[in-house]
Amino acid sequence: MYDLIIVGGGPAGLAAALCAGTLSLDYLVIEKGLVADTVRQYPLRRRLFSTPDEVELVTGSLSPGQKPTRETVIDHYINTVAESGIRIKVGEEVLHIEAEGDSGFRLHTTIGVHEARTVLLAVGGFGVQRMLGVPGDDLPFVSYRFAEAEPFSRRKTLVIGGGNSAAEATLALADVNADVTLSIRQESLRVPSRDGRIGEAEEKEGAPRPRIKPWVLEPLERAIDEGKAKLVPLSRVVRVSSDGTVLLKTPDRTIELKCDHVFALIGADPDTTLLRRLGAGIAADGRPVYDPDTFESTVRGVFVTGHLTRDLHMKNAVTMGRPIVEHIASFLLHQGVGG
Ligand SMILES: Cc1cc2nc3c(=O)[nH]c(=O)nc-3n(C[C@H](O)[C@H](O)[C@H](O)COP(=O)(O)OP(=O)(O)OC[C@H]3O[C@@H](n4cnc5c(N)ncnc54)[C@H](O)[C@@H]3O)c2cc1C
Repeated sequence: MYDLIIVGGGPAGLAAALCAGTLSLDYLVIEKGLVADTVRQYPLRRRLFSTPDEVELVTGSLSPGQKPTRETVIDHYINTVAESGIRIKVGEEVLHIEAEGDSGFRLHTTIGVHEARTVLLAVGGFGVQRMLGVPGDDLPFVSYRFAEAEPFSRRKTLVIGGGNSAAEATLALADVNADVTLSIRQESLRVPSRDGRIGEAEEKEGAPRPRIKPWVLEPLERAIDEGKAKLVPLSRVVRVSSDGTVLLKTPDRTIELKCDHVFALIGADPDTTLLRRLGAGIAADGRPVYDPDTFESTVRGVFVTGHLTRDLHMKNAVTMGRPIVEHIASFLLHQGVGG
């Protein structure tokens, strides 16, 4: 039986694993995809909005200065896993966690069963993709992820979403001369939306904040002013048809747009299924209930970290692992869960 199983091999899971190693815990990380799978979903060659020191797992291991690209960050995480000997199984998904009385947990995965005295969930905040929720939202030319602009040069594209991802995609498409339209629900790019569907969880505790980074907003507004991208404020998609026609509704009109491709960059929510099935409390905001000091969920011995919590962004994901794992170590030592 492991002391600790960490579910998720993103920045938060890897940071926690490094600490577990230094504390000589018998641990294992289980990752359903590849190392840093969420970062792999970013657009190719995208530059992060975080500085090197905010994303690195080992202080000083990324060159200071320019904000790193997606590729630099993925390489850094892969190299750290190899160099630090982080014990990780990739391509294995945890399907169900079962409490075994007071002695610990059985984790049922796509490959088998593992036992651990404590569990740290580092499954991130993007486990459940939001869908448009309109007829045709699953047609093959509707994507919920934006990887690169080049294939869409000179094509008619519609981007849906008022967050930073949608703004970045629109700008990238405009840069390659795509015929791009951006549909947003709010009245302007500068108005934070109160529609409750946050793109990259830029809002904390219900307080809306501008969601588009200034260095994206300004060139995007310029592109719109110069006619390189079109903006449809106060709009909602009502239907996508298989011939590529998208129906957009605004308060005073209905617009029919003919599209080659639609990017619905409307965000995702944390997947709390593992916690719910364990009987753990989930708050009204869809995130787990946990002790703010120890990050223990309402199930004794099950902890949460990273983007699954209310501490968003990578800089938190990489720093919060140490105190949480130190607490887990003292929990194992002093309180224990049997074993
Ligand atoms: C397009 C985009 C751009 C972003 N840009 C930035 C940025 O520039 N700077 C910044 O600070 N933040 C950025 N973020 C947010 C950043 O990605 C997250 O804050 C960060 O990834 C959180 O790390 P994490 O380890 O908590 O979760 P994640 O990185 O999401 O890692 C969770 C891992 O858990 C795995 N997993 C989930 N469920 C299971 C399961 N059942 N079994 C096994 N494995 C499982 C997933 O495959 C994943 O690898 C961006 C997010 C997006 C979507």
